[in-house]
Amino acid sequence: MTSTLLHAVPIALGDRSYSIAIGTHLLDQTDTFASLPKGSSALIVSNTTVASLYAQRLHDVLAQKYERVHLVTLPDGEGFKTWQTLNQIFDVLLEQGCDRKTILFALGGGVVGDMTGFAAASYMRGVPFVQVPTTLLAQVDSSVGGKTGINHPLGKNMVGAFYQPLLVVCDLDTLKTLPPRELSAGLAEVIKYGPIADLEFLDWIEANLDQLLARDVQALAHAVQRSCEIKAWVVGQDERESGLRAILNFGHTFGHAMEAGLGYGEWLHGEAVGCGMVMAAELSYRLGLVDQSFVQRLKNLIRKAGLPTVGPVLDNQDNAGRYLALMRVDKKAEGGEIRFVVIDGPARAAVRTAPDALVREVIDACCIP
Ligand code: NAD
Ligand code: MG
Repeated sequence: MTSTLLHAVPIALGDRSYSIAIGTHLLDQTDTFASLPKGSSALIVSNTTVASLYAQRLHDVLAQKYERVHLVTLPDGEGFKTWQTLNQIFDVLLEQGCDRKTILFALGGGVVGDMTGFAAASYMRGVPFVQVPTTLLAQVDSSVGGKTGINHPLGKNMVGAFYQPLLVVCDLDTLKTLPPRELSAGLAEVIKYGPIADLEFLDWIEANLDQLLARDVQALAHAVQRSCEIKAWVVGQDERESGLRAILNFGHTFGHAMEAGLGYGEWLHGEAVGCGMVMAAELSYRLGLVDQSFVQRLKNLIRKAGLPTVGPVLDNQDNAGRYLALMRVDKKAEGGEIRFVVIDGPARAAVRTAPDALVREVIDACCIP
């Protein structure tokens, strides 16, 4: 089968620059990996679900370039994004005598990507790594931007490092096996890029949503390309998250409250972000920044993407109070002050605070079916 490289998105970060290859059958082609430095060994890091689908193919291709190709198969799930699982990667690296030139390949979704990146950042104080994201969320979000890490029992993503890959390979064929819920969750992050940065892209998503849901390769290629370009553009101006990067959290403040309030794992992150964007749009409207038709437009799109648009009730007595309490302890809050990403013009996002009374109105309005 011949591979087709549909897009290559360059990420300009000086001597840490790299490229995101987007196409079909990329996993099976030695050409895909031609730019990588030579070394004697490679380690594929994957999980039980993804390894059984794709590890052999990647292994066969890498075996043409590297003398020794190892595989470590981690348990599947956010609950395993831990120190203990991370250690399994170090165990294999050390047992196999892997040196500083060993290249790590993260084959999987965001969980595998974040853990592999962190392992690469810290093994022998840094070895090269390649992202081979296999979820839509990982292709459009987690594999771009250089954040890597693991969870701690006291908080998500609390231990990690900024570390850039040598290459990102988005093989769109891998998305064919993704469960529908995971596809929709990834679409939430794709939709996010429209209102914060590119209204033409929002128009395009609306016009091509059916094709995206049907996993049409051309449509997916454009969605992944444009998403990566926008994320790279934002991150390029604010690699270490001191300001602008916060706009990527559109929908996330409300969404994190839903995830925490329901118990992690009940709703997928993308589902909470989808619903959270409806609330953030409603807040923007009530702050007088956008009109009602914008809120309705976004809500329709999110619903059609297979995502929830009605907020979950987190407390039968004081639902809005529960949301507010959860948002005040969110990582992105400052001194208990909740910071909302709002839309304040066409394709323009801003970070704002808002009076509790107004936020309560938003939550009440968005939690009614
Ligand atoms: P995930 O990695 O848990 O993958 C979701 C599920 O899909 C898993 O069960 C996985 O095994 C399965 N899967 C993956 N690829 C598949 C395929 N091709 N076919 C069938 N099944 C497949 O979740 P995710 O949504 O990809 O990533 C979420 C993680 O990403 C979170 O830990 C989050 O913190 C992290 N994240 C990181 C960043 C960042 O900037 N580093 C950004 C966003 C999210
Ligand atoms: Mg997110």
